[in-house]
Amino acid sequence: MASSLYIHIPFCLKRCVYCNFVSGVYDPEKLSSYIDALQIETEKIPAETPLSTLFIGGGTPTVLPAEILHNLLLCLFDHFIFNDNFEATIESNPGTLSDEKLQIIISSGINRISLGVQSFNDKELTFLGRIHGSKQAEQAVTMARKAGFKNISIDLIYGIPGQSLNSWKHTLENTVRLNPYHISSYELTVEQGTALSRSALDRDEEEIIDMYDYAVDWLSSQGFIHYEISNFARPGYECRHNMNYWDRGDYYGAGLGAHSLIDNQRLRNTDDLKNYIRLITRNESPARVIDHISDEKALSEAIFLGLRKTGGITIETLAMRYKVNILSKYRKVIEDLQTAGLIIVSPSGCSDETNIILTRKGLLLSNEVFEKFV
Ligand code: SF4
Repeated sequence: MASSLYIHIPFCLKRCVYCNFVSGVYDPEKLSSYIDALQIETEKIPAETPLSTLFIGGGTPTVLPAEILHNLLLCLFDHFIFNDNFEATIESNPGTLSDEKLQIIISSGINRISLGVQSFNDKELTFLGRIHGSKQAEQAVTMARKAGFKNISIDLIYGIPGQSLNSWKHTLENTVRLNPYHISSYELTVEQGTALSRSALDRDEEEIIDMYDYAVDWLSSQGFIHYEISNFARPGYECRHNMNYWDRGDYYGAGLGAHSLIDNQRLRNTDDLKNYIRLITRNESPARVIDHISDEKALSEAIFLGLRKTGGITIETLAMRYKVNILSKYRKVIEDLQTAGLIIVSPSGCSDETNIILTRKGLLLSNEVFEKFV
């Protein structure tokens, strides 16, 4: 049984230009039927296994009115049991927070908040179509801390058209000054069907690489552990929910478009809002199996997901789990990647185990590495 649960809230106040998540503009009428349906779906998830991680994402979960948010959180914390040391995260857009909502969230049992700050440059925020400015983002962090949140994560975006390396440094410095325990830093990517994909972007690829390098080096010098390609944490504050994905652990997903991975079956909920509500009202499942994962594919996924972590993958652990020695199975691929300077195969620090990790060049060209194992 999975011990990780993702809950999807597919509403935002306004669509950001780069967004391709399953989310739409907040509509109070649809919202209440959606939340009713979501509660019915979550109550059907077996609750006998204690949850280690809960992640309420979106969309913008904090767009929910206080009372609806309160009822949803009550329902989740009533239905599921949690491990002693559980991690429960809610995502938030700084433009949707209030002291009242923060009190509801923290008193429910949520112990981690992930704030979509993205930049501390107002021009960049306007370009991205964010509903908040840099001051409001800073206030949101202060409010969250005042409400009692210790484990605060800040999401950032780099590679924004018009963004200079200096502006990126300013964003990183402002972020660290606010003392979050976790930082996610993603390159702006152009996804098909987004507003961003309809205009040509003027970006300097070399400068984007410099931004990535600067973030890795400077955040490390500030005491953050670079534990995954795009993620940094104070020691002990790595996001456990996401670590479960990268370790290819099972998980449940509930809500519009949510995915689950259970016993090598990948399931996906419908991403049509009307259909989702209709199926649940008729007592039917909104999920369908989209993949019966073979042992071969499971191994390949475990390799490329595991390589995302800077600690990499351990040959012996994969051999125990998948009954395959990948050094033999992928001998030629591994040799070629080593020769190209993209991976290192080395004994792990204090045991007899052997790890494969991405080099800095490999981190920058990670997709090229992952393709070799598919
Ligand atoms: S707030 Fe997040 S989910 Fe909503 S539109 Fe912007 S990027 Fe997408």
